[in-house]
Amino acid sequence: MSDLRPSPISSTVDFEADGCHHGFLRLPYSRDDSAWGFVTIPITVVRNGSGPTALLTGGNHGDEYEGPIALFDLAYTLRPEEISGRVIIVPGMNYPALQSATRTSPIDRLNLNRSFPGRPDGTVTEKIADYFQRVLLPMADVVVDCHAGGKTIDFLPFAAAHIVPNKVQQAEAFRMVEAFGAPYSVKMLEIDSVGLFDTAAEELGKVFVSPELGGGGTATAASVGRTKRGLRNVLTAAGIARGIIEPQVTQWIDMPDQDCFTFAEDSGLIEFSVDLGDSVAKGDTVARIWPLGHTGVSPIVIRSRREGIVMGRHFPGLVKSGDFVMLIASLIEP
Ligand code: ZN
Repeated sequence: MSDLRPSPISSTVDFEADGCHHGFLRLPYSRDDSAWGFVTIPITVVRNGSGPTALLTGGNHGDEYEGPIALFDLAYTLRPEEISGRVIIVPGMNYPALQSATRTSPIDRLNLNRSFPGRPDGTVTEKIADYFQRVLLPMADVVVDCHAGGKTIDFLPFAAAHIVPNKVQQAEAFRMVEAFGAPYSVKMLEIDSVGLFDTAAEELGKVFVSPELGGGGTATAASVGRTKRGLRNVLTAAGIARGIIEPQVTQWIDMPDQDCFTFAEDSGLIEFSVDLGDSVAKGDTVARIWPLGHTGVSPIVIRSRREGIVMGRHFPGLVKSGDFVMLIASLIEP
C-alpha cells in the first residue's frame, strides 16, 4: 500500500458478505447542478464462500456497449448458488462517460484507460482509476475488461491478452482468452501501454483478458451474445462458476510489430478497398482518401505495411490526418 491518502470513493456494498449485493461506488463531486452531489457508479458483488475473485468491467470507454449490456444482464441474473468465490461486476467503470455516450469523461475529458494508476486527490476520472488500482484490483484473481471499437473503430470480434514477463501469468491469461471463445483470439500489442487498466492489472500479477467485440458505437445481437457467453465461460474456467464450457472455434492472431497499425496522413472521404476479415499482402492498397475540396484530384492511396488479415478499421466515413485507419495482424497456423 502506498502512502497516498485514502480514496474518497466509498462502496455501499460489502465485498466480504455472502449473497448478491447491488449498490454503488459513491464518488463525491460538488458541482453547479448538485452542490453536495456524488457520482454513483453501479456495482454488484456476488459471493458464495471462499474461492477466487473475478472483476468484470465494461464502460472503461463510454461509447462501447457490449460490456455494459452483458454486465447489467449478468448482475441481474447471476445467483450466489451458481458460484464458489466472488464476482465483482462494474458495467460502467467510467460512468460519466457511459452516461454521455463518449469515449472520455465529459467532466474532465480524461480517458480512464490512460489514467492509471490515478490519484485520490485528482480529477473525477483519476479518482476512479485510483479506486480500481488500490481497492478493486488487489481483490481480484482474474479481470475481464470488456471493450469494443466505440464510435470510431470497428473490429472483428476478438478476445486478447498481452505478452507479459511472468510466463505462468501469461499462460493463464491465454487460457482465459481461449475459454472466452471469441471467433478470434489475439496476442495483443499496444500502440501505447502507459496508463492502461490492462498494464495496472498485469503489473499486480493479475490474469487480465480484454475482449474487443464489435464497434461503431453500437452493439448487435451477435456481439452481445458472444460477450455474455464469454464472460460465463471465463467464470467457469477460473473455477468460480460451475458448469461446462461449450467448445468454440477460434482463430489465433498475432500482432508482431507496429506495422500492424496504419494511420492517415491526410483528410477526406475514406474509401476502403478491403473489409474486415479480408486477407492482404504487404503493399496492397487498403484504402483511398478523396480530398473533399475539389473534383478531378487523385485520391491518396493507403497501403498495407504488412501481410495479414484485416482485424479492425476506422469507422466514420470521414478521416483526418493522424486517425487510425486499419489493423492488419497475422494468422497463427494451428
Ligand atoms: Zn475501449
